[in-house]
Amino acid sequence: MRSPIDDYLEQVLNDYRDTDDGAVMTGNRELEKADPSSFGIALATVDGTVYTAGVADVEFSMQSIAKLPAYALALRDRGLDAVLDRVDTEPSGDAFNEISLEAETGRPRNALINAGAIAIHAMVDGGNATERVERIADLVGTLAGRELTIDEDMWDAEMASDDHNTALAYLLRSAGKLDYEPEEVVDGYAAQCAITVTCRDLAMMGAVLANGGLSTTSEDDRLLEGWITRHLLSVMATCGMYDGSGSWMTKVGIPAKSGVSGAILGVLPGQIGVAVWSPKLDDQGNSARGVAVFERLSHDMELHMMHVA
Ligand code: GLN
Repeated sequence: MRSPIDDYLEQVLNDYRDTDDGAVMTGNRELEKADPSSFGIALATVDGTVYTAGVADVEFSMQSIAKLPAYALALRDRGLDAVLDRVDTEPSGDAFNEISLEAETGRPRNALINAGAIAIHAMVDGGNATERVERIADLVGTLAGRELTIDEDMWDAEMASDDHNTALAYLLRSAGKLDYEPEEVVDGYAAQCAITVTCRDLAMMGAVLANGGLSTTSEDDRLLEGWITRHLLSVMATCGMYDGSGSWMTKVGIPAKSGVSGAILGVLPGQIGVAVWSPKLDDQGNSARGVAVFERLSHDMELHMMHVA
């Protein structure tokens, strides 16, 4: 049954359907096929209720949003100190695929830009790329509440266009931040980008983060450690929207993570997870309609973490 909240979300999408800013990601033959008119939203509360509008149950690839579950596993598998030794937690102010490491430490600035995410992927336990990716997809499935798959065509397309990420991986190895062969790590990183989800899946995953790592459907079921959840949300708040992170924080005011398939996942701690998907991207690689919708929701629903009445 549709509720007034579903109707409200439908109205918000309708208000932004004519927004035609940005462009679909180029350079990846599968992402280029995206239908630019796709537009979906899902909002999940910490008590397990999900509200949706538009194409909330159509699958797309996670892309950079998969950096979050990979980060969670690296933290769980290796511990905070070992992860911090390899990847810092500072906003970079640079593009998501910037070729740079900190001069003094050789670390990528954070785990949510590609350089950091490639180092993090290699810190997920597993004998090879396939095992690491299966563990990442399993964790997303646990948080989303259903089994997820990897889009093989997208994985192939990622690998056919991964020169830039391979260069980053070689740079990481030269700085002593990568234990495996760069090509093998980039294959696994490409596969994690190709895990498919829907807006509903992402919103449910976000609601678990909002709930401090506890399941939103069965009481007392801890899916993610509290300290890992806090760490993820903190880095999302400061680095999740790449070089658009500062303006996002002032305008929307909630921890978030975007991906170049056009999805944005936002998490308001203690309250909700929200996912918006529409493929056209702004200059920072964030969904243009997604950013507009989040600004609107933040205003209407007073979601800003620094909200002043
Ligand atoms: N597959 C993309 C890449 O590695 C993911 C980047 C993104 O979503 N921002 O370049």
